Amino acid sequence: MKKHWLVGNWKMHGNLKANAELFNAIRSGTGELAPEVDMVLCPAFPYLAQMQGLVEGTGIQIGAQNASDHLRGAYTGETSPLMLKELGCGFVIIGHSERRSYQGENDGLMGRKALAAIDAGLIPILCVGETAEERDAGRTHEVLGRQLDAAFGYIRTAHDNIIVAYEPRWAIGTGIAATPEIVQAEHAFLRARIGQRDAEFAKRLTILYGGSVKASNAASLLSMPDVDGGLIGSAALNASEFVAIYKALVEVTKTRLAKGA
Ligand code: PEP
Repeated sequence: MKKHWLVGNWKMHGNLKANAELFNAIRSGTGELAPEVDMVLCPAFPYLAQMQGLVEGTGIQIGAQNASDHLRGAYTGETSPLMLKELGCGFVIIGHSERRSYQGENDGLMGRKALAAIDAGLIPILCVGETAEERDAGRTHEVLGRQLDAAFGYIRTAHDNIIVAYEPRWAIGTGIAATPEIVQAEHAFLRARIGQRDAEFAKRLTILYGGSVKASNAASLLSMPDVDGGLIGSAALNASEFVAIYKALVEVTKTRLAKGA
């Protein structure tokens, strides 16, 4: 069975003291990690080195929230995925809706960033999602398909390690999660779209859901059959919420394993 993932996006929050406290509270809440679920924490850039020290020996992995689409060069203010790799990152979030909204990032840039991340040995977590207006206009599949196609136009499916995250923009940070039915339908759509390129790859592709996941809705969202874990924002900053989501995902995964799914 493929691995399930819980990714915490700490966004532009934290400081040295608060990060250590949050990490230690998560760590003591989860205890030893269950083998079925991998955990990735994504602090802001300046704290990656701190996080590298904190996670040592715990099995928790580190990701960045963004990276350049270039590996090196005269790109003032940018961070190369090679640098992230050297700082212990295994993952990088690419195409997050907040970067699309506030930094004007587009589908093509997302594809180039994903390719650079892969070239540097990182696993990109590729975020796709529609706005409320696009959903209301019945354009969700057009938008998701366009975003996926743009990214997979740059990257190869067969052997590259990549995670896709369905993050409807209307559900990010709003407290209003998509319904489990919507999540399942869009995950199935994304898997089928990738399947048109490579059916085997699509089957083993990890697709995370992100958008106002919290302890109270985690089990119902994460138990949808095409959901392989979660990308968590606000609730990742609250240790007891995040630990409860982690435990819900462990239970979901164990149940799937028991059913041989
Ligand atoms: C996110 O920022 O990726 C996210 C899912 O945020 P939230 O959980 O707060 O909706």
